[in-house]
Amino acid sequence: MAEKVKIFVNGAFVDSKTTEFLPVENPATREILAEVPLTTLSEIDEAIHLANVAFSTWKEVATPERARLFLKYQHILKERQKEIAEVLSKENGKNFADAMGDVWRGIEVVEHACNISTLMMGETVENVARGVDTYSYIQPLGICAGITPFNFPAMIPLWMFPVAIACGNAFILKPSEQTPMTSNKLAELFVEAGFPKGLLNVIHGSKDQVNHILNHPEIKAISFVGSVPVAEHVYRTGTQNLKRVQAFGGAKNHMVVMPDANKQQVINNLVGASCGAAGQRCMAISVAVLVGEAQNWADEIKTALSNIQPGIWNDDKAAYGPLINQNSKNKVLRLIKSAYTQGADVLLDGSDCVVEGYENGYFVGPTLFNNVTAEMDIYKEEIFGPALLLMKANSLDEAIEIINNNPYGNGTSIFTSSGAAARK
Ligand code: NAD
Repeated sequence: MAEKVKIFVNGAFVDSKTTEFLPVENPATREILAEVPLTTLSEIDEAIHLANVAFSTWKEVATPERARLFLKYQHILKERQKEIAEVLSKENGKNFADAMGDVWRGIEVVEHACNISTLMMGETVENVARGVDTYSYIQPLGICAGITPFNFPAMIPLWMFPVAIACGNAFILKPSEQTPMTSNKLAELFVEAGFPKGLLNVIHGSKDQVNHILNHPEIKAISFVGSVPVAEHVYRTGTQNLKRVQAFGGAKNHMVVMPDANKQQVINNLVGASCGAAGQRCMAISVAVLVGEAQNWADEIKTALSNIQPGIWNDDKAAYGPLINQNSKNKVLRLIKSAYTQGADVLLDGSDCVVEGYENGYFVGPTLFNNVTAEMDIYKEEIFGPALLLMKANSLDEAIEIINNNPYGNGTSIFTSSGAAARK
């Protein structure tokens, strides 16, 4: 029988009393690694109650004392980075180098949290009206919650709870049900760092657990990262309940390629940025807008992409891993099919990719579309797979207009050598 993932409440790992579980799959093999509980709502209430008890004393702890614990935590995370990355790779599928990077980005946020004394400085304004000075303090709110996606199982939880707790809050983390074990590992090391019990709680589950958090009066602030529809739901419900909410959704990131750019650098960067982590990054480059002469580089981009292949997490030759599950793979395959009927040139089609020895894995090969237009589904939807779209523009202004008309946000990069001479 597969191991049952524990919940982490009031400083202890315990079995949830629920009878409902979801499987946690290794996406390269479909082996069931563990079963994740759909934590009961009364267990969440109890966790929130105990977090409130912890908050009542933690908020009085001096900021340098809080920072000291985070210094210890970041030290432990660094020492145990490989151990965390291995847990992460197995449940998420990303290769070990990517998993190490995932953990490292999180550690950097913990380092940031170590500066909490200066980060919490307030402001004063003298003589704002005759004889009136104003000042502000930054104070903790109480219990904050984090709801996180599968694709960065270490970095994204670490974006959230270290800063919230360093500020004097307590925290309820609801990680993705597809990658719950990395969060438990982060919690285990949190205990080792010596934090008081009840400050960090990890409750597992899915939609119902999230909705309970959104409606719970004791949760004061929510940080969400995930897909657009869920981000909208979390934002709407949370703010309706007068909570502070930040909700980060999906993305479609563009790279503008100017004809004076260094071609090899462009191609190398496009390969990693489009297919790295199987394209399951919110900052993946999914669209390259080739300006002018750069439109002739499609064949060389194709050659470079066809030279990489997916594989399992500890295969050094593999450029990236599998998609997270069957639904994700179905979505990518559906979008590839739509590209044929909607008139894109499919230069590479990774639909039939098979990794020897891992025939059941959710692998998709590198995929490349040329002559993509804004009306196509591959452009309108977030693919979240190892796929790159090539579009054409006659000028930088035209490229920028294409990007500004895309409803998704996140990042854009412009590859050009203009200005390079001035930097020498
Ligand atoms: P997801 O929206 O399916 O799940 C995110 C979280 O929401 C999970 O904890 C999940 O349990 C919960 N959830 C799912 N459905 C829900 C529902 N109906 N009601 C309430 N809660 C629900 O996202 P995912 O597939 O895990 O992650 C991939 C998505 O995250 C992509 O769209 C990606 O672009 C986005 N993402 C964005 C950023 C960013 O910084 N903008 C970073 C990473 C990932």
